[in-house]
Amino acid sequence: MDSEEIRSAKASLEKAIQSKNTETMLDIMSRLRTGVVATEELLKETRLGLVVGKLRSYPNEKVNELARDIVKKWKTDVSRGRPLKATTTGGTNGASPASKGAGIGTPTQRQAQSQSSNGQRTFKSDNVDVNLTDDKIRNNCVGLIYNALAMDTDADSSVILKRAVAIDAQVLARASGNTGSEYRNRMRSLYMNLKDKSNPKLRASVISEDISAQRLSNMNSAELASEDRRKEDAKLEQENLFHAQGAKPQKAITDLFTCGKCRQKKVSYYQMQTRSADEPMTTFCECVVCGNRWKFS
Ligand SMILES: [Zn+2]
Repeated sequence: MDSEEIRSAKASLEKAIQSKNTETMLDIMSRLRTGVVATEELLKETRLGLVVGKLRSYPNEKVNELARDIVKKWKTDVSRGRPLKATTTGGTNGASPASKGAGIGTPTQRQAQSQSSNGQRTFKSDNVDVNLTDDKIRNNCVGLIYNALAMDTDADSSVILKRAVAIDAQVLARASGNTGSEYRNRMRSLYMNLKDKSNPKLRASVISEDISAQRLSNMNSAELASEDRRKEDAKLEQENLFHAQGAKPQKAITDLFTCGKCRQKKVSYYQMQTRSADEPMTTFCECVVCGNRWKFS
């Protein structure tokens, strides 16, 4: 089917849906099933995915079964249509993550460390003193970052401590030397991302300094996210091809958020339920000054 045929088939399908003519619907759908090789562009342009996607909950069983079948096939088509994107987001940089700064400890030291990590390797189990400043908050944060970084590495404790201290310094500088909420939120967010079990690459890259402390402190949530999370986001994006979105969420401008790039407080945002209903809303932010975008939930 060429795009003209597809367009007219879609129009006939919509008509058949309106007049509840299931025979005609099934007939058109079977033609679409065999005649259409879906691409993202095609589905966006014709909005055909939305029409068929909706039919997945159509009260006639034959119709909704066929609709599900078509959507499944088209999803496969779409993901086949962008294998390049999939491999590049698969992360080609840093072929051997743990290669650089990791091998500093002597073999015996490393063995001892991995033995003690049967529980979890922490600054305590490494006998590392994190009380390097007279600010309790900072010392705590350095300890947390240390524990996150130490999780699954055999890097020498002095290396891990150095990275944690550098991260503290960068985030503190970013927060104008204050350990207020900006510093604390940032450190908490870095800690959560660094200790994420599905994100070993982030830890390894920080330890090897493939990602410097400075760069880490400026990364947005999408950059920090694990491969799994990125795949999930891509899936969600794909699912949107088949889901009619209601009225566009209202955007509002607030001074509650600070742009991580230009430090201005003119941020437009909206909230949306992106995952299941019992999980928190995702907030999508865009800096109206420099266009920097990020999201959190
Ligand atoms: Zn900005």
